[in-house]
Amino acid sequence: MNYLKIDKEDLCNGEGLRVVLWLSGCSHKCKGCQNPQTWDANSGILFDESAKKELFRELDKDYISGLTLTGGDPLFESNLDGMLDLVADVNKRYNTSSDEIRLSKPEKSIWLYTGYTLEDIAGGRAYDKNGAFFMFEDDRKRYQIISSCDVLIDGRFIDTQRDMTLKWRGSKNQRVIDIQKSLQKGEVVLWED
Ligand code: SF4
Repeated sequence: MNYLKIDKEDLCNGEGLRVVLWLSGCSHKCKGCQNPQTWDANSGILFDESAKKELFRELDKDYISGLTLTGGDPLFESNLDGMLDLVADVNKRYNTSSDEIRLSKPEKSIWLYTGYTLEDIAGGRAYDKNGAFFMFEDDRKRYQIISSCDVLIDGRFIDTQRDMTLKWRGSKNQRVIDIQKSLQKGEVVLWED
């Protein structure tokens, strides 16, 4: 998993002052994308243990509200294993369990931007040859990752729906979803600030 940069005090990609990790790799190729240099999964540098330490050093600061994962697409196929490890490590260090629905406000929230919609991720299912329902492996991982986050900004950037007055998103089709409340209710609940 490669990344382009770590922003240490960002106010534009989520609530509060945040650390932002810009990941390499995206297959959506949205017209009007502001970061086409992130599309190639080999661009940037390897997200290794030293990069992870740098990230946690910044997240440890009291005034930092949390981590935003963007790019590129954090849910690009070659990022999935790295993302699973990272969100689990962040939750273990700061929050409650990464596997269960969060019942309390996280100490450090995790926001994730992706070109996939929630329905793309949750709906990636098929029947196997015995007629049993299963989830595609990559979608299972995507679902596991977003389940460990607090807020999901979903959907491709659509140039014809661009609206620069929107908070946290670039086009009207994109949604700012409260993932934990959505999991609890079993339906999409938009995030409210
Ligand atoms: S999903 Fe994001 S990074 Fe990928 S092409 Fe669309 S706007 Fe660009």
